[in-house]
Amino acid sequence: MKITLLGTGTSQGVPVLGCQCEVCRSSDSRDKRLRTSALVEIGDTRILIDCGPDFRQQMLRLPFKKLDAVLLTHIHYDHVAGLDDLRPFCWINAVNVFAQQDVVDSLHQTMPYCFPKAGTLYPGAPELYLHTIVAHRSFNVGRVSITPIQVMHGKLPILGFRIDCMAYITDMKSMSEAEYSLLEGVEFLIINGLRWDGSHHSHQLIGEAIAFSRHFSDIKEVYITHVTHEVGLHHTAQQLLPEHVHLGYDGEEIVI
Ligand SMILES: [Zn+2]
Ligand SMILES: [Zn+2]
Ligand SMILES: [Zn+2]
Repeated sequence: MKITLLGTGTSQGVPVLGCQCEVCRSSDSRDKRLRTSALVEIGDTRILIDCGPDFRQQMLRLPFKKLDAVLLTHIHYDHVAGLDDLRPFCWINAVNVFAQQDVVDSLHQTMPYCFPKAGTLYPGAPELYLHTIVAHRSFNVGRVSITPIQVMHGKLPILGFRIDCMAYITDMKSMSEAEYSLLEGVEFLIINGLRWDGSHHSHQLIGEAIAFSRHFSDIKEVYITHVTHEVGLHHTAQQLLPEHVHLGYDGEEIVI
């Protein structure tokens, strides 16, 4: 399995428009963070997790190949705004989009031309098929089994995903301990950590992400994503983290 972190920035991205801080002015590519998304490749199965406003730019950096599925964590703009840009991938094959019911309902409202009723496809619209998934109920994309995990984004229940020994969780503030068994045996955890200090009503901080990871004894490596410019320069911030915790950066490849 190879996971490519396509974007590791929080909803505004980094640099933040108009900001003159040293991170936003940095020339280090690891300080330039597009909106959070990842590509998971297992054999010839390619699965995108979230499809935000930077999707097109993210895919221009990679070889153009088919996408089998898109997993959506939740309906926020920074995670779904790029769905229309799936059009070129639909020329290769139809793309299956998996999300929980509230996201499916919202997409039918906000992007009806992308997800029409059978037989009424708007000419040129992407051929996307929306599938409703439910937390805890595993489903398959090709031969790949995916288990959705319920996490709380403030008061909003959203999904994380477990694939084999990897779990991908973004925009989490908390998780019910009842979910912990779904993460048993996970060795690679990709998880959101907004910044070092303060607090946030719907996102955990980096320290909270590390503390959360300690609940799972098999975890070998932790990758922090959905990061703000306030975290500081990548090379400085990375030195403040335990050896097995990595401040993720755009383009980072995790091979398992
Ligand atoms: Zn987000
Ligand atoms: Zn800044
Ligand atoms: Zn969100």
